[in-house]
Amino acid sequence: MSAAAGVVIGAAPVGIPPWMWWGTVALWGALIGSFLNVCISRWPMELSVVAPRSRCPRCQRPIAWYENVPIASWIVLRGRCRGCRLPISVQYPAVELAIALVWVAAFATSPSPLTALRVAVFVTILVGVAVTDALYYLIPDGFTVFGLCWIFVLSVVGVLLGDRGGFAVPYDALIGACVGAGAISIIGWIGEVILKKEAMGFGDVTLMAVVGAALGPPRTLLTIFVGATVGAVVFMLVVIPASWIRSRRAGVPFEAPLVPFGVFLAPAAVVTFLWGNRLITWYLARIGLT
Ligand SMILES: [Zn+2]
Repeated sequence: MSAAAGVVIGAAPVGIPPWMWWGTVALWGALIGSFLNVCISRWPMELSVVAPRSRCPRCQRPIAWYENVPIASWIVLRGRCRGCRLPISVQYPAVELAIALVWVAAFATSPSPLTALRVAVFVTILVGVAVTDALYYLIPDGFTVFGLCWIFVLSVVGVLLGDRGGFAVPYDALIGACVGAGAISIIGWIGEVILKKEAMGFGDVTLMAVVGAALGPPRTLLTIFVGATVGAVVFMLVVIPASWIRSRRAGVPFEAPLVPFGVFLAPAAVVTFLWGNRLITWYLARIGLT
């Protein structure tokens, strides 16, 4: 896992002061997080993420560049629009901060800058998917189409440069995308038969194609297993009781709420990317297969 001799994993490049390097990486992450916020709020409405310029969603007042500095502006404005004084969602600085941390963590722990970039973009897409699915119960094609193309192209680049970085090689990426999309479709189909209603959206299928292309078949199946297990536990212990109590209070008949499955699959993919191979090896050894 070590890079060229004398280069420490995750260190700033030779000749660049560490504070400047990490400041730049964090700033890049925050700016990409800022763009991710635009994608999260516009794609579900089928709006362009390029034009028009950012506006306050409430009073439509255009937002100047100095009111749009990641994290800092929200703090300076104390979370309120300068026009209408209504609160600006904490989602904006939270996503910017989260993505800044993701990019710093990716560059601090990856064996090469190429791997760091691949990890950072992959996790950024997954954060976008999870937040959009949680807020709007949908996974925009913008994330998954871009993700699929990015992952395939970079898997070819990785092979050409001899730098795999924990991602699937092109052949495994192809099979992984099919396995991910196929497995989640089968689970959704069975769920539909049992629950007698749509259990999974097509967005979950496209998400698992992306995850499959990144991780390859075994870790993709593990992602679905982890995501479904955590999702089912949270659903039965938190979501169902909470909505049952709410419907009792409101005096309306109880109906099982929708599950934004991507909220569980996306973090499961990150966990599996980081620890999946160790988990699979441990499990195979336990059941005596290796
Ligand atoms: Zn406003």
